[in-house]
Amino acid sequence: MVAPGLRLGAERFLETPAVLGRLSRPYSMSQTLAEVLQLPKKQLTKLLYPLQELERHLAPDTGPDLHLRIFDPSLEDIARAESIFTATVRNRIDYLSSAVRIDHAPDLSRPEVCFIGRSNVGKSSLIKALFSLAPEVEVRVSKKPGHTKKMNFFKVGKYFTLVDMPGYGYRAPEDFVDMVETYLKERRNLKRTFLLVDSVVGITKTDNIAIEMCEEFALPYVMVLTKIDKSSKGHLLKQVLEIQKFVNTHTQGCFPQLFPVSTVTFSGIHLMRCFIANITGNLD
Ligand code: GDP
Repeated sequence: MVAPGLRLGAERFLETPAVLGRLSRPYSMSQTLAEVLQLPKKQLTKLLYPLQELERHLAPDTGPDLHLRIFDPSLEDIARAESIFTATVRNRIDYLSSAVRIDHAPDLSRPEVCFIGRSNVGKSSLIKALFSLAPEVEVRVSKKPGHTKKMNFFKVGKYFTLVDMPGYGYRAPEDFVDMVETYLKERRNLKRTFLLVDSVVGITKTDNIAIEMCEEFALPYVMVLTKIDKSSKGHLLKQVLEIQKFVNTHTQGCFPQLFPVSTVTFSGIHLMRCFIANITGNLD
């Protein structure tokens, strides 16, 4: 977990005059964290801590038992994670290889995280956004029907491996199901599975199958809510509360905090980077 000594707390950072500057413009992929920190407080919170922003709109009678936020890193930790995701000569971030079978997958020495979700949920966009500080990395997309679906492995320096699993859908061939299941069941260095759910649509039948699979294999997994820029605040809050309740009451292995993200506004992306750095043991 994040070292307590590093918890500067967002407030302290936010009080500095530079951060309270009036610089206000839409996020661009090339914007550095230093520039993000110049945003007005409300915009900064929305970008870095989307759940905190949503919580402000909760009805006062929501109840003391509802905790939307558990992972709440300091800005300093977010900055440390940012450097892990920044490609440099000494921190190579590269596409490693693809595999259709687990025995073709690369080495097991580094901790691994994988991303799963049904086709069109926004998985490639999210991985591209996470890798926006390593623009050379090519996130391969193979969407054409009949195209071989593969697991794509990316190396993030000496820190961890990120695996982009093929998107599933109602026409997923059996060998594909076998590949995903076998990977999830057998991959020894798999630290966390990120299961993507479209925040506009909510949990679908197909998502439920993936959830059941994670539960059955007793995997530690995390639910990521994609495309949050597409909903009104009211709709998003309703979805977050419903899905959070589902996680609390129907799951064992799911991390009890949702990760809402948008690859359009970039909201939640820095927090996810920090969470990944943390669970792969790189923020200790
Ligand atoms: P994948 O099939 O899961 O890899 O999905 P993609 O990343 O290709 O995204 C599917 C569609 O959703 C594309 O048209 C994307 O532009 C769009 N999309 C992905 N993420 C977002 C997002 O955060 N906001 C919005 N508005 N659209 C998104």
